[in-house]
Amino acid sequence: MRKYLLLFSALLLVSCLKDRPGDTEFDSYKNSFIDAYWKLNPEAAVANGNHAYDSLLVVPNAESRAKMLEFVENQREKLQDFDPDDLSTLNKIDCELLKNLLAQIEFSVKELKSWQWNPAEYNACGQFSEILTKVDAKNTKKVNELAYRLQFVPEYYAVARENLKQVTKEHLELAIAQNDAAKAVFTTDLPQLFKNSTLSKNQKDKNLKACEAAAKAVTAYVKFLEGKRNGPFRSFRLGTDLYAKKFDLEINSTFSSKEIYERALKHKDSLHARMYNLAKELWPKYMKNEVMPTDKLLAIRKVIDVLSLDHVKPEEFQSAIEKQIPELERFVREKQLIYIDSTKPLVVRKEPAYMAGVAGASISSPGPYDIEGNTYYNVGSLSGWDAARAESYLREYNNYTLQILNIHEAIPGHYAQLVYSNQSKSLVKSLFGNGAMIEGWAVYTELMMLENGYKATPEMWLMYYKWNLRSTCNTIIDVGIHTKNWSEKQVIDLLTREAFQQTAEAEGKWKRATLSQVQLCSYYTGFSDIVDLRAAYRKKMGDKFNLKQFHEQFLSYGSAPVPLIRTAMLE
Ligand code: ZN
Ligand code: ZN
Repeated sequence: MRKYLLLFSALLLVSCLKDRPGDTEFDSYKNSFIDAYWKLNPEAAVANGNHAYDSLLVVPNAESRAKMLEFVENQREKLQDFDPDDLSTLNKIDCELLKNLLAQIEFSVKELKSWQWNPAEYNACGQFSEILTKVDAKNTKKVNELAYRLQFVPEYYAVARENLKQVTKEHLELAIAQNDAAKAVFTTDLPQLFKNSTLSKNQKDKNLKACEAAAKAVTAYVKFLEGKRNGPFRSFRLGTDLYAKKFDLEINSTFSSKEIYERALKHKDSLHARMYNLAKELWPKYMKNEVMPTDKLLAIRKVIDVLSLDHVKPEEFQSAIEKQIPELERFVREKQLIYIDSTKPLVVRKEPAYMAGVAGASISSPGPYDIEGNTYYNVGSLSGWDAARAESYLREYNNYTLQILNIHEAIPGHYAQLVYSNQSKSLVKSLFGNGAMIEGWAVYTELMMLENGYKATPEMWLMYYKWNLRSTCNTIIDVGIHTKNWSEKQVIDLLTREAFQQTAEAEGKWKRATLSQVQLCSYYTGFSDIVDLRAAYRKKMGDKFNLKQFHEQFLSYGSAPVPLIRTAMLE
C-alpha cells in the first residue's frame, strides 16, 4: 500500500510538471526575454557567462535607465498574456521569477537608487579582465569587440561622476580600492592583447590610444572619489522602509524582515539553552575538576574552546576534506536521504590562484552557458600562512565544524542542490534563481544530517549549534544594522559574546553588513522556510511521509523561492 501511494504521488508530480497548452509559447517567450535582457544589460550577461554582447558597455545615463523601465513595462504586458492555468508548475514558477526580476529592476532604478550613492557600482575594468580570460589574440572578431567596447569607457566614468550625489563612506573606500587595483587591465593586459593581435599597425595604434584614454578615465574617477573623502556622507544604513522592500523582493520568503528578525532572536535563545545543557553534560569529561562558571555563556564558551583544539595539521587540511566527501556520500546513500546522480561527480581541487588567500572551501559550478564544464570543490591551502594565523583558522574549522562545512558546501548541500537544479533545465531558474532557497537548503542539510545520526555525538551537536548561531545572528545583525541603527560595538559584542565568534570574524561581518543589504538574511530565512515546509508536508502526508521523497520533490523545482515550492507541494 505504502509503495503504491508513493508511486501514485510520483505520477501526480510528473503530471503537473509536464507540458501544458501554453508551455511551448512560454518557452520561446522566455528565450526572447533573456536575450533582450542581456542586450540591455551586457554586464549581467558577461557575469553569467554569456558572451553575445561583449562589444557593448552601457553608459549609465538617464537614457539607459529609461530604457530599463521601458523594458519592465513591455515585458509586464507580455507576461500578462499568459494564463498561469495553461502553464506547467515549472513554467508557472518561471513566470513568477521573471515578474520578480522586473520588480527588482524597477525598485533599483526608482527607489533604491544606489546608482546615486554607491560608487563601487561603477567599475569598467573587471569585466574587461573577465572577457580577456576567454579571448585569444588571433581571434580578430573578439579582439575587435573588445576594441569597440573600449571606446565607451571615458564616457562611462564621466557619467558615473555626474550620477553620484552623496556617497557612503564605506562604498567610497571600496570603489577607490577596487578601481585602483583593476586599472592594470588598461595599462597592461589589454595593450598586450592588441600588440599580439593580427590587426594592422594603424588599428593597433588606435586601440593603444583608446587604452590610454580608458586608463586616464579610471585615474580621474579615483581622484574624483578621493576628493569626496571629507564628506558629507550618506549613511550606509538602508532604513526600515527600503530594507523591508528589498528583503521582500530579494529573499522572497513567507516571512517579512520584521518577522524573521523576531524568530531569529527566539531561535538564538533556544540554541543557548540547548548548548548550556550540552556544556553541562560535557563539562566533567573535558574540564575535569574546574568549577563550572555560573555565567551560562561563559561556560558554553569554555567547552567550545576545548573542543576546537581538536583539529587537523595545516598540511592535512586539504586531504581531510577530500577524505570526507566519499564518507558523506555513503551516509546519504545508506540512510536513503536523497538520490545523487553520480554521473557527474564533484571534482575536489586545490583552489585556483585567483581565489588564493580566502582559504576555506567553495563550490564553483560551470553555469548554464557551459553545461560541459566540471563542478569543482575548491579547497584552500594553508601553505605560507604563519603558525598563529593557521592555528586560529584550524580551531575555527576544527574536526567538528569542518564536517559541517562539507555538508553545507558539498553533500548533500550546495553540490547536491546544483545537480538537481541542472536537471530542471530552466535557464530562468539557473540565471535568476532564489538565493535564500539555495543557502537555506545548504543550512537545512546541516541539521538534517545530524538529525539522521551523522556523527551526532553531544560534542558534534554543540559545535553544530555554534555554527547555526552564525546564520541566525547574520539575520539579527543585518536587520539591526540597517533598520535599528546598531553600532559596530553592539554588533561585535553580540557576535563574540552570544555567537562565540573570534573578534576578527566579527569585524569582518560588520564590514560585510555595511557594504551589502539583506543578503546576510538569506541563510537563516531560507532555512526557516524549509523547516516549516517540511513540517507542513509531513502533516499533509501523514504516515506516508518519506524524507527522501520530500527532499527529491523539493529540489525538483530548481532554485525557486521556497514559498512557490510550498504552494506546489502543499496544494
Ligand atoms: Zn591547535
Ligand atoms: Zn552556502
